[in-house]
Amino acid sequence: MTFTGHLGFTGAPLDRADNLRRDEAAIQALRMDPTARFLILEELKPLMAEGGKDLYWARRSEVPRGTTIFLGLTPEGDPRFAVDGKADDDIPGTATDARVAGTVLGDARAAIVAQARSMLDWHRRHGFCANCGAPTEIQKAGYSRLCGGCGAEHFPRVDPVVIMLAEREGKALVGRGPRFPAGFFSALAGFVEPGESLEEAVARELFEEAGVRAHGVRLGASQPWPFPSSLMMGAFAAADSFDLKLDESEISEARWVTRDEVRAALNGQADWNAPPPLAIAHWLLATWAGVEG
Ligand SMILES: [Zn+2]
Repeated sequence: MTFTGHLGFTGAPLDRADNLRRDEAAIQALRMDPTARFLILEELKPLMAEGGKDLYWARRSEVPRGTTIFLGLTPEGDPRFAVDGKADDDIPGTATDARVAGTVLGDARAAIVAQARSMLDWHRRHGFCANCGAPTEIQKAGYSRLCGGCGAEHFPRVDPVVIMLAEREGKALVGRGPRFPAGFFSALAGFVEPGESLEEAVARELFEEAGVRAHGVRLGASQPWPFPSSLMMGAFAAADSFDLKLDESEISEARWVTRDEVRAALNGQADWNAPPPLAIAHWLLATWAGVEG
């Protein structure tokens, strides 16, 4: 299987410089550096520059008050930060849905959006300690929160999700959830549960959602999906039969499709719609169908 296309939200171009995060003076110096730039997210929507083709990187004088996290250093060593706040009206940037931004950017710049959105969303939801209920404070340039009550340290979460194509005799299984747009089919997916491997999660989800027993799970690629903090693990699995028994609360319709049908759908020439290039489900289908990206 070959596919050379770009996986959405991947390719992070910044050095996250973890070694600097504990050094408050160093981080403060980077914030004051004339080359520092800030990605403002309004209600978790990143500001895009005029024309909507690139991120809007604000100067320090343009930055509103709000939770600020260190994103990292550019290849030239210039610091980049993300800020949760409302930009002044005279700033020539437009708050843009992160899915739209990821699609428009279409390259490694989208990885910055994923990092910023997941991190700032986590801070919004973790102002209080899950252990004792006391307020928590941001530390390590945004990469942890410390509880002032019990001293517990909390870290940004990543939620692993498996997303997979079951395949059998030249056909792959796609399905649609009850809330999907009309005609839209995708790979089956589900959250990994505590105490199971990725391979076991793939087999469990296929059986729970579609009644399909599978073996020979092969992990293919992974992708951050910052809504709010998923890590999508793309996999293929060999199905033991074509028989389906759907859990209709999760999957309202499923079908086995051939490689020709997948290629047609990816080209917009089928009676069903495939996922857009931003999503790893697109990568799974294109890779399985042998489409060069
Ligand atoms: Zn606590």
